[in-house]
Amino acid sequence: MIAHEFNALDLLTVPVWIVSPHKEALVFANTAARELMQENTFSQLRKGLFSAHAQNELSMYITDLRNQRDIVEILTVCCNGQENALTCRLSVKTLATEDDVIVFEGFEVQAIQGLKASRSANYQRKKQGFYARFFQTNTAPMLLIDPSREGLIVDANLAAMNFYGYSHEVICQKHTWEINELGRHVLPIMHEVARLPGGHKPLNFVHKLADGSTRHVQTYAGPIEIYGERLMLCIIHDITEQKRLEQELERAAMHDDLTGLLNRRQFYQLTEQSQTPHLALTQDYSLLLIDTDRFKSINDLYGHLKGDEVLRALARTLEAHTRKGDLVFRWGGEEFVLLLPRTPLDTAMTIAETLRASVAKISIAGLPRFTVSIGVARHEQNESIDELFKRVDDALYKAKNDGRNRVLAA
Ligand code: GH3
Ligand code: MG
Ligand code: MG
Repeated sequence: MIAHEFNALDLLTVPVWIVSPHKEALVFANTAARELMQENTFSQLRKGLFSAHAQNELSMYITDLRNQRDIVEILTVCCNGQENALTCRLSVKTLATEDDVIVFEGFEVQAIQGLKASRSANYQRKKQGFYARFFQTNTAPMLLIDPSREGLIVDANLAAMNFYGYSHEVICQKHTWEINELGRHVLPIMHEVARLPGGHKPLNFVHKLADGSTRHVQTYAGPIEIYGERLMLCIIHDITEQKRLEQELERAAMHDDLTGLLNRRQFYQLTEQSQTPHLALTQDYSLLLIDTDRFKSINDLYGHLKGDEVLRALARTLEAHTRKGDLVFRWGGEEFVLLLPRTPLDTAMTIAETLRASVAKISIAGLPRFTVSIGVARHEQNESIDELFKRVDDALYKAKNDGRNRVLAA
């Protein structure tokens, strides 16, 4: 039974079984695994009191394992003279001499501290085989769901009760669709998942907690057969913090650090996506190109930090003059762009003039007043962004040449 090339696995403290999927023939068990087996065959470990698995036939796992799906089984093992549940991770290997084999690697589930549970709930679960170790002591919130009863939650572990904030009695009267923001729309997804033999790749949902708050979760669910019932084990991973960081990164990629305005990349994204519905920009908008006058001398005379302060003050002033739907961008350096959807040229000129006058009134301690020059253009039908910018740039250039602190139309 024991192949010599596996003997190095005896050095491991974790139990490892190598099994041929056909007829569940044991190819190798390391020392730790043999201790847990005692006189039992491997098939007996899979059929014991605490055992749980998604497939009766090991060979049914092969495709999923090859596709890197996480598959876990619970074996019933002997430990200190008692039967106990042992969770194993499955993987597939191809041996030189044999066909595919499945490796069962046991792992310890750490008991959690400090979770409150009623004695009766504990006792109930103890009676129910495999939960005693795998389910109850796992720090990940887990729900056992009955897909045939609209996703009724038939059990929740302590971590899930703590996470959702419901008592065992209350959560076990709920259905998955009641805790999911999708509501009953989640049912077709659940039925689909329940049909997959090895479970599914993680899915993202928003779950509702007892206190009314919501959390972004990633769920790992897969069918599991317990006492002849085909249920679904759902492991919940709270990814709210991860989501928040993602959103922060996304925001950072769209915005300019110094002023918090949208950046130039965002301008191209919005104007090039003509399908962006709320903008309908490509056809009908005006554009202001705003350049700070003699900004270099502000930096030179008062320092870069004061220069930054001017840019921030400009950004706030520009924002203060936007109407609903207008967008302000930091174009780069000391230049800004104001995008005015559905705005004719004369309105754009009025807005530009108001802006120019407001900027001239900005007062920053320790600095003289400063001004901006503004080029204004209305986007013409079928005009490219480059062509539009050429026109508005020319207007700005003229405004500079005409003495600065002025507004010129293209
Ligand atoms: P003009 O009236 O012709 O526009 O003159 P100007 O001095 O404003 O134009 P110029 O292009 O010569 O100078 C722009 C300066 O803006 C040069 C650059 O060092 C400065 N600058 C660009 N980005 C920043 C920034 O983020 N912070 C600060 N403080 N200065 C910046
Ligand atoms: Mg400039
Ligand atoms: Mg300038």
